[in-house]
Amino acid sequence: MQILIIEDETKIAHILRQGLMEDSYSVDLAKDGEEGWEKVMINSYDLIIMDIMLPKMDGFTLCKKIREKNIHTPILMLTARDAIEDKIEGLDAGADDYVTKPFSFTEISARIRALLRRGNKTEPVILQLADLVLNPATKEVKRNNRNLNLTAREYALLEYFMRNPNTVLSKTRLLEHVWDYQYEGLSNIVETYIKYLRQKLKTDKSSHELIHTVRGLGYILKTKAN
Ligand code: CA
Repeated sequence: MQILIIEDETKIAHILRQGLMEDSYSVDLAKDGEEGWEKVMINSYDLIIMDIMLPKMDGFTLCKKIREKNIHTPILMLTARDAIEDKIEGLDAGADDYVTKPFSFTEISARIRALLRRGNKTEPVILQLADLVLNPATKEVKRNNRNLNLTAREYALLEYFMRNPNTVLSKTRLLEHVWDYQYEGLSNIVETYIKYLRQKLKTDKSSHELIHTVRGLGYILKTKAN
């Protein structure tokens, strides 16, 4: 799941980024409204966090522009003060929720989970494919009732596959949604992590392959090879 943070205050942006990365999200940063707009046009994010007071283009204007483009990505606004007018204006502009600064990371984290759930109403609470079960709330993964011990990145990769089963996912798409922006271009990292994940998914000799290579296109998570 990839999140864009649009915030000109470097310190806040970095604290947020650090916390979100620890929560296994992939994070992209923009330092003003125009840069945020450009990134939203180029990439497909799963959620956007934006400050209201931004250089070049303020959060209200940016939010309206995004909604005018029919982009429905959940938007969480950061308001500098507890001003009710800001909240109303933000929601009118198309934001889904807001958090008042100073905020606790725990609060942001809970709001994000709620927005991601709301953003995809058909999304099941527990993700399952054959004997593979993933619980996004506890980040537990089981295959054939046995717990898999995954690293944060392996988990994020598997979660993305399980949210998009039976779909060919290109290396570029996986890099965008699972890794951070600065890794762009390092497609070897995808191959490496697919290898790790396949090893961990092989809980015993008879367990069949779930992540299949589609030559020249990418990878697909499905139960059968054909
Ligand atoms: Ca600001």
